[in-house]
Amino acid sequence: MYNPGSMKVSEFINHNEIVATLQYADHHKNDILLIESILQKAALNQGLSHREAAVLLECQLEEKNREIEQLARKIKLDFYGNRIVMFAPLYLSNYCINGCVYCPYHGRNRNIVRKKLAQEDIAREVTALQDMGHKRLAIEAGEHPAMNPLEYIIESIRTIYGIKHKNGAIRRVNVNIAATTVKNYTKLKNAGIGTYILFQETYNRSQYERLHPVGPKHDYDYHTGAMDRAMQGGIDDVGLGVLFGLDSYRYEFVALLMHAEHLEAVHGVGPHTISVPRVRAASGLDNRGFQNGISDDNFAKIVACIRIAVPYTGMIVSTRENPKVRERVLGLGISQISGGSRTSVGGYLEPEPEEESSAQFDVIDTRPLDEIVHWLMDLNFIPSFCTACYREGRTGDRFMALCKSGQIQNCCHPNALMTLQEYLLDYAQPETRNLGEKLIYSQMGNIPNKKIREIVTDHLKQIKQGDRDFRI
Ligand code: SF4
Ligand code: SF4
Repeated sequence: MYNPGSMKVSEFINHNEIVATLQYADHHKNDILLIESILQKAALNQGLSHREAAVLLECQLEEKNREIEQLARKIKLDFYGNRIVMFAPLYLSNYCINGCVYCPYHGRNRNIVRKKLAQEDIAREVTALQDMGHKRLAIEAGEHPAMNPLEYIIESIRTIYGIKHKNGAIRRVNVNIAATTVKNYTKLKNAGIGTYILFQETYNRSQYERLHPVGPKHDYDYHTGAMDRAMQGGIDDVGLGVLFGLDSYRYEFVALLMHAEHLEAVHGVGPHTISVPRVRAASGLDNRGFQNGISDDNFAKIVACIRIAVPYTGMIVSTRENPKVRERVLGLGISQISGGSRTSVGGYLEPEPEEESSAQFDVIDTRPLDEIVHWLMDLNFIPSFCTACYREGRTGDRFMALCKSGQIQNCCHPNALMTLQEYLLDYAQPETRNLGEKLIYSQMGNIPNKKIREIVTDHLKQIKQGDRDFRI
């Protein structure tokens, strides 16, 4: 039976409830009165239930679909303004014992070069990332108890935080590694991780078991219960995601929101982020088992409906998407993007020839970070390198409380401007710097609190004199 407060996976991600929700949404897809009442509720910025959100996703009425899009844009602006937080992935190792059929790192793939970074390699990669201007990383590694034990991950996190090159520093390390035990999550917490990220891939149990035929990841319940164990282990910020295209996007959408409801019901705090990757071709893969690819229009609608359903949750899109698609979804609800990414192990220092690929997927948006920063500013977004909340201990429910208080505008906006100023001085090309200086100047008036405006004016001067790392 469906129960969001249960710790039993089959009760909080309940197949019958998902099927009933999809039938309900299909039945009401032209129900104008119901859709209007859901939109009215959503306009209060309090979010929606999975059933309500499913009706919006299914809505066939053109005018109401336009309203859904407008509301998503408004909620995005209310909570995130025009800021976009920047990050980069760092692949530590592609050794993996799992058999995920959609991932080239799967253990039986002989067409891929296996690599694992030693600590000296990590130091060099991080230096290269700092020289691009990055402050926030997401580390990634396959599951391999012998090659990538937890001790290796923790040592790598220490190495990353320890590199201080010129004015560079990595100030937040998010971690995307396989599901593990409560004890191990506590170790990760103690190592100072930001968000623990784990994609569900697909919530459909039978499809999940088919696409993960071997390895520890085959265990659906263990994988799906990972976020509960992470939170029990003391990690406040967890990042959910599905790989759209493995199963029906409608099914994934409903289950993803049920997972968010479950975290809120049990731990009092929902997911910190939701990622929305779409499945991509990669070397050594047979994709006959998962041809559920989604169109750009459906993808944009999914982003808009997630934005409306969980306004307090950040949303991430990666360089798997082309610039046109990224531009389209930025306004609809995306709050974080990666830039200048390499998805191969060791790829920041030495880009690989194709025949020696160790990459997890092909990067579609291959532009360097500076070009992406320039592009965002041209679109009137503020690229932000902010990591303030994590460093001020504003995680989990403390972060959510700040978010819900409306005061986040007095934090995020000034922090975005100050970290952008650092980037412009230390890493930007002259043209990007000019554009950014003008943007910062024009955006100062949008800091609501006068006192904070004065503090930021002062800090910006100090940054120009060489000081770094101010935050509100
Ligand atoms: Fe391994 Fe992750 Fe790839 Fe699966 S998705 S094969 S667990 S690296
Ligand atoms: Fe994120 Fe906090 Fe910085 Fe806002 S102030 S951008 S929520 S880290």
